[in-house]
Amino acid sequence: MNKLLLLSVMGTFAVAQGADAAKPEKPWIVDRFDDIKVIRYEVPGFEKLPLREKELIYYLSEAAKCGRDILFDQNFKYNLVVRRTLEQIYTSADKRDRKSQDFAALEKYLKKVWFANGIHHHYSNDKFRPEFGEEWFREQLSKYVSECEIPVDMLCAIIFDPELYPTRLNQTDGVDVILTSANNYYEGVDQQQVEQFYSEMAERYKDDKEPISYGLNSKLTIDDEGNVVERVWHIGGMYSPAIEKIVYWLEKAATVAEPVQRQTIEALIKYYRTGDLKDFDAYNILWVKDLDSNVDFVNGFIEDYGDPLGRKASWEANVNFRDEEACRRTRIISANAQWFEDHSPVDPAYKKKEVKGVSAKVITVAMLGGDCYPATPIGINLPNADWIRKEYGSKSVTIDNITYAYAKAAQGNGFNEEFVLRKADRERMAKYGKLADNLHTDLHECLGHGSGQLAPGTKGNELRTYSSTLEEARADLFGLYYLGDEKLVELGLIPSLDVAWAQYSQYIMNGMMTQLSRVEPGKNVEESHMRNRKLIAEWCYEKGRKDNVIEWVECNGKRYIIVNDFKRLRELFGELLREVQRIKSEGDYEAGRALVETYAVKVDADLHAEVLRRYKALNIEPYGGFVNPEYRLVYDASGKRLIDVVVSYPADYVGQMLGYGRDYSLLPSLN
Ligand code: ZN
Repeated sequence: MNKLLLLSVMGTFAVAQGADAAKPEKPWIVDRFDDIKVIRYEVPGFEKLPLREKELIYYLSEAAKCGRDILFDQNFKYNLVVRRTLEQIYTSADKRDRKSQDFAALEKYLKKVWFANGIHHHYSNDKFRPEFGEEWFREQLSKYVSECEIPVDMLCAIIFDPELYPTRLNQTDGVDVILTSANNYYEGVDQQQVEQFYSEMAERYKDDKEPISYGLNSKLTIDDEGNVVERVWHIGGMYSPAIEKIVYWLEKAATVAEPVQRQTIEALIKYYRTGDLKDFDAYNILWVKDLDSNVDFVNGFIEDYGDPLGRKASWEANVNFRDEEACRRTRIISANAQWFEDHSPVDPAYKKKEVKGVSAKVITVAMLGGDCYPATPIGINLPNADWIRKEYGSKSVTIDNITYAYAKAAQGNGFNEEFVLRKADRERMAKYGKLADNLHTDLHECLGHGSGQLAPGTKGNELRTYSSTLEEARADLFGLYYLGDEKLVELGLIPSLDVAWAQYSQYIMNGMMTQLSRVEPGKNVEESHMRNRKLIAEWCYEKGRKDNVIEWVECNGKRYIIVNDFKRLRELFGELLREVQRIKSEGDYEAGRALVETYAVKVDADLHAEVLRRYKALNIEPYGGFVNPEYRLVYDASGKRLIDVVVSYPADYVGQMLGYGRDYSLLPSLN
């Protein structure tokens, strides 16, 4: 539950121009369609790495690409059928057919499917509406697809019928969230059966001091005798062909890794073989303890955002190495972790007496895979298991080359001019926005998620569907609260509190207003990071109302939100942090539910329409994602000895997606 998505609506902040202002740059945005822009990112410093580390990155990168089909299948049972059928039409259609409007619409739809790893939007979870005709599509099918893997009528219903599988993830209060979510984590079971299955399991292992994350790596379904059973994802189980190939590349990686890292990789391989979550925990412990390896990676079933009950994890991968210069910031924060914990506004009973192993680093990403591709978090804090975090700490990273690419892609897009009323706020954001964003991410990841402790008897799963939102709120509030602390000036992290005020204006504006540009008309806020931001902003607005801390202003028929009292706003962040920590520590489901349902969900339709209108006029796509770099092994003249690994930056989204579909198509269409 710990990935951080981009805070702002795609880079409201300028990047300092500095030395690279002079040379003309290759465009950063490589493709645009619908509400998406695709950006390329660079991997500065790769060339300078020792050959052994380059080779390690190469193998880990291959492993990162091999789980792509798993994610498609997890997101929805028929995603692979749809993707492959569309790709077949797309690549084999003749010149005449390619000229039609329907074909252009099919291309757009396919680009969206690639981006979302399925037929549901990666962020809103709603099923895409195709803009090509069904009759035309059936004609193309008969022309270019010799054998469809499911009946044509069924395929057409999946694509064209808006009533069928309308959402991938339903979190609506009071309905059966399992039966109404189209993801492929459960089949043939309802919410009550799922909850019973896992509460019985938790009961069986209730004395385990090192509880595994029950259900993390399996699909829950019904066997032939009608029993509720798990189909576990491992070699020999579900998704075996893709996992075998992941393991193949991990084995290669192990041969060039240093001893400590080799052990870690071997532990991961063992877990992929057994599917035993005890092995997963053993791997996580090795992984979290390895703070020295320059190259690092994430590879596995990690985050549970895609499951309405927050149990099943989607497959994701990421390969990275340390960005030494930028690490200074997070080293200072980590070194002072105990001070931050001791001085936080939460109830002393719910503070950690001893903050352990808060490691933090800034990394350069070399490859994104699975649920980190093409849309990726900009910070990661793992592992997720509470007991491991408590005993061994967690590793926390912010990804600098990705935020850099976002900011480059957003330069001069007119966003701040449209939504920020006061010149002083705009100037503060332009001057300090990037630093403020980075620091907030650091505080959120290095300290926020790792802070606090549960009351005796609280298990940590009491908040159920509200847990992700409240956990993100807790981490965000920790970051917001301390961003405005003089301690940061004292530590030399910020020149003045203006950095915090830049973030405060931006955060409130985003939470109450501009993030609505990502929500479809008529919809409520669903995604947990968005809910978290709305919760914080709306709560502070209401509690600060009598002092006019935050204010709506109307000017030339447009609405703006401004912060009048930054210091008081900081106190409000502190009060809410105290309450959210209490809710988590006590597992107070009712209070958590009331907070989220009151402040984080419902959208004002008028305001929403206005934001969409103003945003649309700017022609900015609200979502961004990335094309990966490519790596090539270079051998000497004998062809036997590896002499280098070369990186290149393709600027072709379609080419990369078709290439991945060709080279990493490792699962059957139905699993
Ligand atoms: Zn987070």
